[in-house]
Amino acid sequence: MIELFDEPMSKHTTFRTGGNARRFLIPESINELKEAVRKCCEDKEEYLIIGNGSNLLVSEKGYSGTVIQISDKIGKITVSGEEIYAEAGAMLSAVARTARDNGLSGFEFASGIPGSVGGAAFMNAGAYGGEIKNVVTRVDVIVDGELKSLSPEEMHFDYRHSIVMEKNMIITGMAVKLEKKNPEEITAAMTELNRRRVEKQPLEYPSAGSTFKRPTGYFAGKLIEDSGLAGYRVGGAMVSTKHCGFVINYDNANSDDIYRLITDVKRIVMEKFGVELEPEVRLIGEF
Ligand SMILES: Cc1cc2nc3c(=O)[nH]c(=O)nc-3n(C[C@H](O)[C@H](O)[C@H](O)COP(=O)(O)OP(=O)(O)OC[C@H]3O[C@@H](n4cnc5c(N)ncnc54)[C@H](O)[C@@H]3O)c2cc1C
Repeated sequence: MIELFDEPMSKHTTFRTGGNARRFLIPESINELKEAVRKCCEDKEEYLIIGNGSNLLVSEKGYSGTVIQISDKIGKITVSGEEIYAEAGAMLSAVARTARDNGLSGFEFASGIPGSVGGAAFMNAGAYGGEIKNVVTRVDVIVDGELKSLSPEEMHFDYRHSIVMEKNMIITGMAVKLEKKNPEEITAAMTELNRRRVEKQPLEYPSAGSTFKRPTGYFAGKLIEDSGLAGYRVGGAMVSTKHCGFVINYDNANSDDIYRLITDVKRIVMEKFGVELEPEVRLIGEF
């Protein structure tokens, strides 16, 4: 297990911002992960599980407990017939490539989401009409120190929501059921979705993807654009002019800039349209 102290979270978040984690652990197996969590509980140490940090805004004050990163060291992907089992640290892009190489369709939607399997099951990540909940058949978790399997129903999936957000659980892997298709068609679909991402999203800047959840009946990006906020800046943080749903780290922003920008956007959209925007990005630490 890799153990680091005073580790800058800016190195582990796609926003490229955030203060230091007092302790940062990278377990290399599920047993080491269980051990790390057991030790934190024993020491009454607060801990935070992260994957690829692509949906996190970590305070400039940092995190005073232990961050446990589930990396691709716990990222084995196994194919069995039309089912793929991926450990939590596997990247979604790697699972999508494995599916394609095995002529399995249904995971194309996730190929451009820069997160881990654990982060995606936690968030019920989705894109272009696909969602984790539509393909998953089982999620394995550590709960109260023990490994347990949850059915999709037990995961209580909803829009950007799963039961793991409410309970103290750690996802160790998930199984997905896909269907046979011609690999060329799968490749074409993945290429097309990727093209749409590159065309519409400000991928050239650090961000955490869509900053806000989709409010019922609206699109966050459209509300923000119609509020005249395209290009709105606080310090180095900016509402992307390419896609107003993205807050980007435009010019050496820190997490305070991003947080203040999010707060301003929420307030202005509420004033103009009476719609409450809720961040999709997870706020970690004190703001
Ligand atoms: C350019 C860009 C585009 C994006 N596009 C999309 C998109 O199209 N659709 C979409 O849904 N999201 C999108 N995202 C957001 C993000 O990639 C997803 O939410 C992703 O699923 C997060 O995975 P992660 O591994 O990075 O999780 P992290 O950001 O590391 O963590 C997110 C949350 O999950 C929890 N968590 C992570 N791993 C585990 C685990 N193993 N067990 C328990 N809890 C865990 C963390 O505690 C945290 O609360 C995008 C982000 C970027 C930067």
